[in-house]
Amino acid sequence: MSSQTPADSTNSIENYEKLIRERDELNVRGRQETQLKVVSDVQLRLDRSLQTVRQSLDCRKCHGLLFQPYGLVCEHSVCARCLVELKEESNPPRCPKCYTEILLPPIFSPHLHAMAVSYAAYKGDPIPPPVEFIWPEPKPELIEKGIKRYADEKR
Ligand SMILES: [Zn+2]
Ligand SMILES: [Zn+2]
Repeated sequence: MSSQTPADSTNSIENYEKLIRERDELNVRGRQETQLKVVSDVQLRLDRSLQTVRQSLDCRKCHGLLFQPYGLVCEHSVCARCLVELKEESNPPRCPKCYTEILLPPIFSPHLHAMAVSYAAYKGDPIPPPVEFIWPEPKPELIEKGIKRYADEKR
């Protein structure tokens, strides 16, 4: 057993201080890693909820963002651009998703439109100009038929 020389004790103080510094650095790094992990977890949750939002803003025909969306009698929604196409494709027009005949006039959904605009703004995507179109006044008997069928389906 050799006794400690002054050089040894200097060394051990230096070692101690070095270890303290290393520990502090590790602590800082650990905190940074924890913060990064928290940030990436939050980002992941944000991405997932954005995905959900995006899915609910999906036009059933073109799968673009639901700008100027119209709710159909079957409760699916299409953008105005697609509604114009549906009107030209068949008479009566049909829902592109479930092929229900659109016998009742589609209803504009301002909430979905506002969400689509916010989503596009968040993504930095352009917002298309409004589409002008006229949905023909449905014949009264078509409205009757539509309401009856809608009521039957809801039962
Ligand atoms: Zn569309
Ligand atoms: Zn539908």
